[in-house]
Amino acid sequence: MRKKAPRLPSPGIRVQLTLWYTAIFALLILIFCGVFYTTLQAFLAAGVDSTLQLRAQQIADGISTSGGKIVIQDITGDLPGLDTTSPLGQQSTRQNGNNQTNDTKNTTQSGVQSDVNIGALVCVLGVQGQKVYISPAFRALTLPTAGFTQPLHNLSWQATVTAYSGQEVRVISVPLLENGKVFGVLQVGESLAQLTHTLQSTTIALLTIAPIVLLLGAIGSYWLAKRAFRPILHLTRTAREIKAGDLHRRVHVPRSRDEVRDLALTLNEMIGRLDQAFTQQRRFVADASHELRTPVTVIRSITDVALEDILRPAEYVEILRDINTEAERLGLLISDLLVLARADEEQVSLDSEQVRLDLLAFDVAASMEPLAVGRGIELAVRMLEPATIIGDTARLIQVLMGLVENALTYTNAGGSVALDVKVQDTMACLMVQDTGIGIASKDIPFIFDRFYRADPARSRVVGGSGLGLSIAHWVIQAHQGSIVVESQVGQGSTFTVMLPLAPSLPQMDANTFKNTHLTTAKAQPRH
Ligand code: ADP
Repeated sequence: MRKKAPRLPSPGIRVQLTLWYTAIFALLILIFCGVFYTTLQAFLAAGVDSTLQLRAQQIADGISTSGGKIVIQDITGDLPGLDTTSPLGQQSTRQNGNNQTNDTKNTTQSGVQSDVNIGALVCVLGVQGQKVYISPAFRALTLPTAGFTQPLHNLSWQATVTAYSGQEVRVISVPLLENGKVFGVLQVGESLAQLTHTLQSTTIALLTIAPIVLLLGAIGSYWLAKRAFRPILHLTRTAREIKAGDLHRRVHVPRSRDEVRDLALTLNEMIGRLDQAFTQQRRFVADASHELRTPVTVIRSITDVALEDILRPAEYVEILRDINTEAERLGLLISDLLVLARADEEQVSLDSEQVRLDLLAFDVAASMEPLAVGRGIELAVRMLEPATIIGDTARLIQVLMGLVENALTYTNAGGSVALDVKVQDTMACLMVQDTGIGIASKDIPFIFDRFYRADPARSRVVGGSGLGLSIAHWVIQAHQGSIVVESQVGQGSTFTVMLPLAPSLPQMDANTFKNTHLTTAKAQPRH
């Protein structure tokens, strides 16, 4: 088997940023240098061309014809070797008929190598191609035929040619006109040595400066990246220091309104939520242990008494009954805790079936009737409008029984408990109203919290574990509903549950539901 090559550790984000910046910077420098070089080249070339055109124009102004002969007057002083002894500097026409392209001579008459960089590059040709005048430097050039033929058609010609020495020369070839007729061709050249030299120097300068600028750019971007990430490093260090035990700590929030501030605020919010969850969990564990210990302590003390003395059989039966009650209490508490623990982990899957809430309320009231009668409380079903919802029947029965049981528990004998089911727009509304002891306004925000009891001393004797409303709240929320309470001490309480109606379902036969759920409700214990 081939061994996997060890993966290189990824460079830090600062190095990565620096590399990206440098790469982009290098690309920009390259583009800048390219554009600068080509622009400079075009600018210099245009300068040479316009100089050549001007010079050609000036020289052409001094050339004319006289008696069929071309007469050259050196008005620019650019024409070395012109025979100034003849009148008006006149040159006799050579009748050799040689085309300039065939003239490969590149030496002066004295045999010295011509240099296109020294002296003017001027040549005057007759219409037959005979040379009327040629400057010594021009002898080093060979021009293509078009350089002669095109001006004969009254068209200027311009090109870059290479001299024998390898030096590039820009040449312009213009027609010589008299009365609109071409009587000769003037060729003027300019060595591109200066231009080439300027471009070379520029290239060297760019090649020297570009790496220095790039290096400075890389150093600058690394410094900037380091500076930009300093607050994040600070955040990381603080976040790493925060352990489960000290979740009250927070990371420093910078004053600047930027992404780092958002990150710090988000981290602090997250730590806050964790802190809250940890505190809740700790309190839940402490409360649960306390609640579990109470029945165990009661059982221990009862059995201790029984073991110390020899009792009569009737007393043992009494003790066993007490133990049974405490064990039942313990069992209910454990099943409540289990429901909440599963709900927290989102492990409880609820059924989605059609449930007639009004019939369910009727069933629950019927099953609780004996308890109400036993406590001397009137339990009435006031209004039941048909309301079909989608939900988990068993869980909804648990909620209803819990609410009615609470109402009966916290209402004194002679009081009353009433149930209503109404339809309000798209919601089914269930109300459990009692004329009991009520809940103080300071307790109302907490009664849905786990293990919360408004009156611990009383609730422990008559009530349950303080988990009933927490479970009811969770079930209602899981059904996309809400539960609220209105209460006044000494006047009574009203618990209102709102649940979404099943979307456009035909209301079912009341009897079908009644038969289904009456037995369920009766058989269903509170937990
Ligand atoms: P418990 O098992 O103690 O009844 P619950 O979660 O069902 O726990 O209720 C929490 C607390 O809310 C109770 O201890 C009680 O103080 C208060 N409470 C609930 N229902 C009523 C009610 N109908 N009237 C007055 N107080 C109530």
